[in-house]
Amino acid sequence: MSTLKTVKKDRVISLDFTLSDENGEMLDQSEQGAPLEYLHGAHDIIPGLEKALEGRHVGENIRIVIPPSEAYGEYEVSLVDEVSREQFPGIDDIQPGMQFQTSMDDGAPMVINVTAVDEDTVVVDGNHPLAGVTLVFEVDIVEVRQASGDEIAHGHVHEDGHCSGT
Ligand code: ZN
Repeated sequence: MSTLKTVKKDRVISLDFTLSDENGEMLDQSEQGAPLEYLHGAHDIIPGLEKALEGRHVGENIRIVIPPSEAYGEYEVSLVDEVSREQFPGIDDIQPGMQFQTSMDDGAPMVINVTAVDEDTVVVDGNHPLAGVTLVFEVDIVEVRQASGDEIAHGHVHEDGHCSGT
């Protein structure tokens, strides 16, 4: 496998990263020795991060600040709804923090989060948990390699040449 240096389309990029919010609170990080791998140009990661990494090189350490519009979107009050408990048949014990998968009007899958519950009603929130949050990434570009034809066709990384099917 030839060694590549530059982040560009149809290459698999390996990153060590930490993710914080604007106040410095840590939200996520890659595990030691297990960098995040993604297929550049396939929209596998949030738009602001993919854009900021374009043309960067192995060995670079970059701090990237990404507004909600380039990350998980603005927080939309219209995605918060109060529904009847009867809309959750067979689930007796609905608790705040639970998640359900549903579909939008256009059939796209959507995860809703239960944020409050009382005797008759359930408040659900279709916003991503990081909607409205400005994200601060500290990224180390660990490795760049050419993606395989299968990876490019599927639009995602194959670990050790195997398709995860997702
Ligand atoms: Zn695949």
